Amino acid sequence: MSVSVIDGKAFSARLQDLVGREVAKVKADHGLHPGLAVVLVGSDPASEVYVRSKRRRSVEAGLASFAHELSEDTSEAELLELIARLNEDRSVHGILVQLPLPDHIDADKVLDAIDPDKDVDGFHVLNVGRLSTGKPSLVACTPLGCMMLLQDLLGDLKGKSAIVIGRSNIVGKPMAQLLLAQDCTVTIAHRFSRDVPKLCRQADIVVVAVGRAGLVRGDWVKPGAIVIDVGINRITDADGNSRLVGDVAYDEASQHAAAITPVPGGVGPMTIACLLANTLTAACRQSGLPDPELTLNSK
Ligand code: NAP
Repeated sequence: MSVSVIDGKAFSARLQDLVGREVAKVKADHGLHPGLAVVLVGSDPASEVYVRSKRRRSVEAGLASFAHELSEDTSEAELLELIARLNEDRSVHGILVQLPLPDHIDADKVLDAIDPDKDVDGFHVLNVGRLSTGKPSLVACTPLGCMMLLQDLLGDLKGKSAIVIGRSNIVGKPMAQLLLAQDCTVTIAHRFSRDVPKLCRQADIVVVAVGRAGLVRGDWVKPGAIVIDVGINRITDADGNSRLVGDVAYDEASQHAAAITPVPGGVGPMTIACLLANTLTAACRQSGLPDPELTLNSK
């Protein structure tokens, strides 16, 4: 069977373009300039890279971008004050607080202080609850990106059997809810699940978000399944070179799957594109406009 490689980089570029066109439209038609505030506390190098890239792509898509860089010793109270100001600021439609936060700040407290309607990361309990009860919500960016890739590939997911390996609040659980909302039959596997390979072999759709290089082997994958690999792991290969790999043994799984996301270049690039999409959606909702049409159809 020849496998189709899902090009998340190209798809995310097209999604960003589409968001950019819709941003231009709401600006021209309604005078609405969607704005995203990105808050960074401290100077974690990886976080600085992510934040820079989020800002650059916001500007490329025509969003207003507001940067708040706070020192490592910012107190929890000071951060909560900033969040309160951003909640009130009508030019800010989306608020993103880059994680992880320094140890002296309670991240849950901060995330819960964000106005749920501006919670473009989709981490607020209200958005989590809305998603699981089928109400309009802002959905966490990484699972949203996975779902866009799946729908673009398969169209209707009704009746498909899906496994989500990993149950984190930011990927696994919302991913499972999204698949359930599309009428899939969903299994969620975690560290205590028995015989995960057997569960996996029953699935038409496999989404893996664990953080263990090569966990999913080729013979775990049902012939013709779609494999979405969320994992990002840095490994050192036999030649001493460092590189990024996913949670799926890519070469092996490619022998069985109908389609698979590579790492890098699969799910990763979708996350920021979905952040831009969420900011536009949040701005439209806050302004009483209908949700923007952000479906890309590659076929
Ligand atoms: P996490 O919070 O550490 O959660 C990992 C999950 O995997 C947990 O639910 C854990 O189960 C489960 N798990 C661990 N070992 C397992 C095993 N042997 N079999 C089955 N399940 C197992 O991780 P995360 O934040 O969801 O991230 C997962 C991976 O995705 C990481 O590599 C991360 O870097 C990557 N990621 C990528 C993006 C992106 O592409 N933009 C975004 C987010 C995350 P328990 O709950 O039982 O402990």
